[in-house]
Amino acid sequence: MGYDQISVIDGDIVSETDLNRQSLFSRNDIGMNKAEICRNKIEKLNGMKNLSSYSVYLDSYNIEELLSSANIILDATDSLKTRELINQFSVKKGIPWVLTASHGDMGQIKFIFPEKTSCLECMINGRNMVPMNCHYDSVEPFVPQAVSVMSTSMIKKFLSGTEVDGDLRFIEFRDMSIERIRIDRNPGCSVCFKKEYPLLEDKKIKGRQIY
Ligand SMILES: [Zn+2]
Repeated sequence: MGYDQISVIDGDIVSETDLNRQSLFSRNDIGMNKAEICRNKIEKLNGMKNLSSYSVYLDSYNIEELLSSANIILDATDSLKTRELINQFSVKKGIPWVLTASHGDMGQIKFIFPEKTSCLECMINGRNMVPMNCHYDSVEPFVPQAVSVMSTSMIKKFLSGTEVDGDLRFIEFRDMSIERIRIDRNPGCSVCFKKEYPLLEDKKIKGRQIY
């Protein structure tokens, strides 16, 4: 496995409030689609030609087409519902994914490998922990940078064949700490044990309504 092809999926457009922390975007990009800008800028920066961009929000209609051939999925969303959709798809297909979340001066990262580590549902209903959400609150500019460094290094580790654990990494800049929280699989988990995937069947969810 390697970096043969990278797909960037985002239906959102660049707004002024993104510029302080989403370093790929500049003032000239305001109003333009994030996924397309991301692909164009990376191509210009380092000549990478193996990027595809999809200007859509991930939903129960398009997830099969967009993600079924993925080796690994990196979550950079701001929606719990979208993460739950990714989790159910990941478990159903056996595709690993990395959850990332930012809020204020804190960040979270967790690797999820179906049947080997706990999943998002194990974390929420087994450990009573819900990922943070940056959608409604501000995020310090350095937090997404730290989260992206750690999550991409996790992906690199996995793709190079090294085992990655499913512990939650909790970064807190207030005291400059990284806490490692053990998240065991929950034997009562509706997703990774009972194999229930209601969001994949829910065709009422479309586009950004998923939020
Ligand atoms: Zn689970």
